[in-house]
Amino acid sequence: MIQQLKQFHRYQRKFSSQSTLEVVLKSYAGVGNKVDPTIFETRSVPQDEDSFFQPIEKGHIKLKTIALSVDPFMRCMLDPDHPQLGEYLEPLKLNEPLHGGGIGHVIESDHKDFPVNSIVVAPFLGYPWQTNCVLNAADSQLNLRLATLKHRPTLDLGTLGLPGATSWFCMLKAGKPKPNDTVVISGAAGACGSLAGQLAKKVAGSKNVVGICGTDEKCQLLTTYLGFDHAVNYNSRTFHEDLINATKNQGIDVYMDNVGGDVSESVLTMVNENARVPICGQISEYDNDIKYSDLISEMGVQSASTRKLLKDKNVNRFRFLVLDYAHDFEKAAQELAALVIHNIILVPETVDIGFDVGNAFCDMMTGANVGKALVLVHPDYNIGGSHWVAEGTKEMIIKVKDSNNNVSRVWRW
Ligand code: NAP
Repeated sequence: MIQQLKQFHRYQRKFSSQSTLEVVLKSYAGVGNKVDPTIFETRSVPQDEDSFFQPIEKGHIKLKTIALSVDPFMRCMLDPDHPQLGEYLEPLKLNEPLHGGGIGHVIESDHKDFPVNSIVVAPFLGYPWQTNCVLNAADSQLNLRLATLKHRPTLDLGTLGLPGATSWFCMLKAGKPKPNDTVVISGAAGACGSLAGQLAKKVAGSKNVVGICGTDEKCQLLTTYLGFDHAVNYNSRTFHEDLINATKNQGIDVYMDNVGGDVSESVLTMVNENARVPICGQISEYDNDIKYSDLISEMGVQSASTRKLLKDKNVNRFRFLVLDYAHDFEKAAQELAALVIHNIILVPETVDIGFDVGNAFCDMMTGANVGKALVLVHPDYNIGGSHWVAEGTKEMIIKVKDSNNNVSRVWRW
């Protein structure tokens, strides 16, 4: 934490604290490439060009950014011709600030629903990667809302936001785990996976919940703190055998697929009769030149014998899209909030302090996060006299390799 605060203060010195910093897309990532952090550029906005320092327009709000969300879906927005664009995502423009989910503190308002001092959340898209910003609160596409728990606003980007809804509907409504089921989740230590596993165990009561993730430390976290029965490291040479052992050789009834690729090829060889396989994401393929519809099609499974197995066993492997459940988000968020408040589910977050949003995105894509990956832009921001980090929030500094090589970061819940 201290190291990260020092980094944050270096940022503050580099750019006058008055001015707005923003992260723009300097060049496209290139389909087929891993995202290189140098495609992002942090720059200071000249005050005379900065709408934050102009008189406020009708229906607009001025915000100090508290936190920004970095999410896998943004990968395809980094190329104008990315094959996985479409439906609801547009490519980002060069030399303009990136945007995604974000939270800000309103310091000036011309909208009655978002008064001065309120904490506002843009849960999905449209919050610019800027330290100060102006939003048109009347724009319904931003889906702006007030933070659910003012003392812990980042929950609205994770458990009470899209990742929470994704885990809730993908696991409980699409996967439909039953008490006698063996449930497997890939990307299990991430924002969606870490919640989905807890829901399978603590809400559905499934007898064996197995997480798959990329390091032994993450495996340990899943079983020690989050209630997974077993966790398996897909980078281990014995991954396939380890997964057979973790499922106790009883096959798999529900597989929430967050990653695709070789990991899922292995998992799918172990499915039981009538298994449910909601395809939530395919992060292992997001850098690649493949259409999403091809990945999730029957032929997206590489092995012919596995394709036959899925047919013979009447396995339901299907696309899951959280936006299909938008009408029920609020209900799910209420249920999730109750589980959080009563400490039934834990909500890990990986918090990068400062404004290194491009690096935080790259780190998330390569597995440096546990739980929701966030950038905390104003870590010491004071709201109405009280610090917003809730009392009792547990923090743990863990060394993980990131793109700067071995910087420690804060995990907390
Ligand atoms: P996340 O899991 O918090 O972060 C991404 C994680 O993916 C990394 O931490 C990394 O963990 C793992 N990963 C990266 N490259 C990988 C690879 N080649 N093979 C296996 N694992 C890899 O992200 P999230 O926001 O919770 O999203 C998880 C998945 O859900 C993504 O695929 C996302 O697109 C999808 N999603 C879908 C919907 C929907 O509506 N369908 C909504 C939200 C999210 P490891 O250390 O384990 O590698």
